[in-house]
Amino acid sequence: MNTQYLIKNAYAILTGLSGDAARSSATDIRIQDGKISALGQLSPEPEDTIVDAKDCVIYPAWVNTHHHLFQSLLKGEPQGLNQSLTSWLASTPYRFRGAFDEATFRIAVRIGLIELLRSGCATVADHHYLYWPNMPFDGAAILFEEAEKLGMRFVLCRGGATQTRGLESELPQALRAEKFEDYMLDVERLVQQYHQKDANAFRKIVMAPTSSLHSTTAQQFRESAKFARQLGIGLHSHLSETVDYLDAAKHKFSMTPVQFCAEHDWVGSDVWFAHLVKLLPEEIKILGQTHTGIAHCPQSNARLGSGIADLVALEHAGMTISIGVDGAASNEAADMLSETHAAWLMQRARKGMLAVPQYDGGLFEGGADAATIEDIVRWGTAGGAKILGLDQVGTIEVGQQADFVLYQLDDPRYFGLHDIAIGPIASGGRAHIKAMFVAGKIVVQDDQIPDVDMKELAWQARQAVQLLQQRTLQVA
Ligand SMILES: [Zn+2]
Repeated sequence: MNTQYLIKNAYAILTGLSGDAARSSATDIRIQDGKISALGQLSPEPEDTIVDAKDCVIYPAWVNTHHHLFQSLLKGEPQGLNQSLTSWLASTPYRFRGAFDEATFRIAVRIGLIELLRSGCATVADHHYLYWPNMPFDGAAILFEEAEKLGMRFVLCRGGATQTRGLESELPQALRAEKFEDYMLDVERLVQQYHQKDANAFRKIVMAPTSSLHSTTAQQFRESAKFARQLGIGLHSHLSETVDYLDAAKHKFSMTPVQFCAEHDWVGSDVWFAHLVKLLPEEIKILGQTHTGIAHCPQSNARLGSGIADLVALEHAGMTISIGVDGAASNEAADMLSETHAAWLMQRARKGMLAVPQYDGGLFEGGADAATIEDIVRWGTAGGAKILGLDQVGTIEVGQQADFVLYQLDDPRYFGLHDIAIGPIASGGRAHIKAMFVAGKIVVQDDQIPDVDMKELAWQARQAVQLLQQRTLQVA
């Protein structure tokens, strides 16, 4: 049954669009058949169920374009807490990933999805790379099941590797590599079983070898791109997260990382990469000219000390910008409100770090013009939806899917704002969700998710963390 809703009296509506269209003059939104059917000052109709949005700010629901949900049980893991990327990978995610079983994996997925949902995120692209030959559980089935229970849209980026990385060769828990044929057959199975081509899809599959430089041979990397395009699915991987990518690409292939990807058909509007923190000017040019996308993960990049991607330059060059939280093993709060708050501040700080005195040729004082709240909303919603091929999602316009959030800013941290519309991002914290809709269905109401027992989940999380710790001790 499709309920017809009339959302009345919103304080402000940010649309996810650019320029003057970034803010709607409307106060009311009508939902019919899962879509936004009208915007403006609307009179109630007999069929309307009215939702009072007084003192609420409405944003499109967030689209998270890079995550590793299994890491939701690896927050603040002490051995990796003060390590940079490569040693952190060995210390935390790669040391623990063989310790997951079906039950612990399901709890991790549930925690991560609920955390995102409570930040106003409706669409998640998970880069899932817990795969080894003859594994005893089907991670894809669990991911899609858990997302469906919460009413979220889910994109499975099917990770994996056909060769073992040097950094994990010493680890007793190292996952065995898959055969390339088996990897590709599983992608084909997943596409047949789950993939929806539509621009309003709830389920998509993406080709996503875990690391662009390390997970497959160069020839297999090219073949995986070709196969993805035959299947009509997108392509995703990690790239240029730290300077180590530049060293590795030079050492292994005598190329830059982006050059390597371009030569193996891994650029284009159907490709997006997580991170892209360390790029050379010629690499930015290639990525921009090919309209490749980025999943910007500012909190993870900061936590690992990797740096800050230059979104302004990347967008100017022609790339599509989106925001991802990355796995919680390098981000102790993997939600879209923390992430967008960080993105807003860090783009400005990044530019400010480049300021020099006028007597040394300096042309600006600081970086406050690097990113507006409207830019952040657009990147975190419409940008992500475009990258995922979900063009009917991510903006608040008539005809679009009704995926949006009513934030009720009733916490003192939002009191005193001259422009309440910017509160959810600018003031940080987690704003109370009065209501959240996905395809016109209520998935969060008065900050509550139906059928979720938070106390039980907290208890399960504690038990699961202990179990994972015991399992890694036993094999060490
Ligand atoms: Zn990642």
